[in-house]
Amino acid sequence: MILQSTNIVSEVLFMGMTVLKSEKTICICCMEEHEVKTVQVNERATSKGSTVDYSATYFYCEQADEYYMNEDQMRENYNNMKVSYARIAPTP
Ligand SMILES: [Zn+2]
Repeated sequence: MILQSTNIVSEVLFMGMTVLKSEKTICICCMEEHEVKTVQVNERATSKGSTVDYSATYFYCEQADEYYMNEDQMRENYNNMKVSYARIAPTP
């Protein structure tokens, strides 16, 4: 999975995936009720030649084999990425 936002390319490294919880709920991916897993993955973002690794959280639909995120997760994942970038290139 490749996500592209502005000039930052991020890719998900699913090797380090951890299941945080599994909950029976209406899945917004396939619109059916089933166990939806919340997973934490390692993600790697590249911008202007700098690469950072950070953790990101997604929902996982086993029926569709799709990963997706809600707005909170999107915000949190983006924030984790920014924090990682700040560590290697502190902004004044
Ligand atoms: Zn589903």
